[in-house]
Amino acid sequence: MNKGILCIIGRPNVGKSTLFNRIVGKKIAITEDQPGVTRDRIYSEGEWLGNHFTVIDTGGLEPEKEDTIMSNIQKQAQVAIETADVILFVVDGIEGLTSTDREIANILRKSGNEVILAVNKIDNPKNGSDVYEFYELGFGEPMIISSEQGLGIGDLLDEVVKYFPKEIMDSEEDDLIKVTLIGKPNVGKSSLINNILGEERVIVTNIPGTTRDAIDSYFKYEENEYVFIDTAGLRRKRSIDENIERYSVIRTLTAIDRADICILVIDALEGVTEQDTKIAGYAHDNGKAMIIAINKWDLVEKENLTYREFEKSIRETLGFMTYAPIVFISALTGQRVPKLMDLLNIVNNNYSLRISTGVLNDIINQAVLMNQPPSEKGRRCKIYYGTQASVRPPTFIIFINDKELMHFSYERYLENQIRTHFGFSGTPIKLEFRQKG
Ligand code: GDP
Ligand code: GDP
Repeated sequence: MNKGILCIIGRPNVGKSTLFNRIVGKKIAITEDQPGVTRDRIYSEGEWLGNHFTVIDTGGLEPEKEDTIMSNIQKQAQVAIETADVILFVVDGIEGLTSTDREIANILRKSGNEVILAVNKIDNPKNGSDVYEFYELGFGEPMIISSEQGLGIGDLLDEVVKYFPKEIMDSEEDDLIKVTLIGKPNVGKSSLINNILGEERVIVTNIPGTTRDAIDSYFKYEENEYVFIDTAGLRRKRSIDENIERYSVIRTLTAIDRADICILVIDALEGVTEQDTKIAGYAHDNGKAMIIAINKWDLVEKENLTYREFEKSIRETLGFMTYAPIVFISALTGQRVPKLMDLLNIVNNNYSLRISTGVLNDIINQAVLMNQPPSEKGRRCKIYYGTQASVRPPTFIIFINDKELMHFSYERYLENQIRTHFGFSGTPIKLEFRQKG
């Protein structure tokens, strides 16, 4: 599923974070247990009428020391313009229109993005008539809200969800396999994209009427149609200051949200960084398929074992995704890029693989015979049967007598048994236990 992205923007103190908290509710961001990546509540999940989306409070991005309010807002606006499907521009109904509001409006108007204007702090609906001055900003009729009182939020979200990319969810674009390249700056992501799109074996065309991103990043390889997510930013390099870690992290996370398959690009000379591990963990937790590409392999002095040593150290660092295939490439020379593309096809097949209920239960029964499920205080965990509920990633529901009795280690064991038979290379698989009887 492709999640929409909402960015909240506005000058300080207009109530952006109050609104953000209103929209994401009391619900704790799913990413919050990953310290460092998205611990700060500037990035969270929201839901309205069945639409799941990502909310970003650009105001929560820390300014750099030398930033003035305006230069900081410009950076925030740029994040919003590059990432959002719809921008929520918040102004302060008590303070009224200010020159900073006008400047933000100018930037947003030029961008051509979809913008919804919200006049906040109208705690008493009777004062709604005071908002006429805001028409001047040129975004039509402002939505009147009070983030603190929770007024007008429903109407606002009704408006917001209209702009989310529904057509991507249920149109022909859904057949496109979405791929995102992740990895630190200068690891060779743009070079790799250019190399792949320049391959003779791929067909690169523009698909009319599709999203911004699709335009310069679509390719067809054998039977599969792919699109690189967030390529625009990468290829043009026009992007915001990549030195500001936070900005690039947000972009990366949103690109992962939208992707089916992630290619984690690692610099052969530097190995896996801490940030790589965190980002890979995010992709894993969100059920994305994964290929690990060790780039700049041409620069490595090779001895017989280099390969395996490298592989071993990566397997250790990224122990939670042993399913991800590793390929040693050079985006510069094109070495093994065709192999990477074959892997894309293979991983995509595995990501969508379905096992019949009969075969799955044969595997489960055999697994249980070889190694009994855990027991506690004389009660043994009983597995009744399993069935595959969905794909992308493959998700299995397994009915058991008591969820309390299932252990993580046994889950691992079952997963490994399924993998022994079907491989599922490149894709996480999920086991969900349900209690029955
Ligand atoms: P931000 O800097 O734009 O993120 O603004 P905050 O969310 O931190 O809010 C700034 C101040 O405005 C805080 O003191 C809030 O309590 C207050 N505030 C936010 N929303 C409302 C509102 O709807 N009504 C009123 N009266 N105050 C609000
Ligand atoms: P990005 O920031 O991840 O998009 O990285 P770029 O694609 O811009 O590459 C950064 C630098 O690394 C450029 O100077 C590339 O020419 C160089 N580079 C990328 N891939 C390779 C490679 O496989 N081998 C070598 N030797 N250099 C590479």
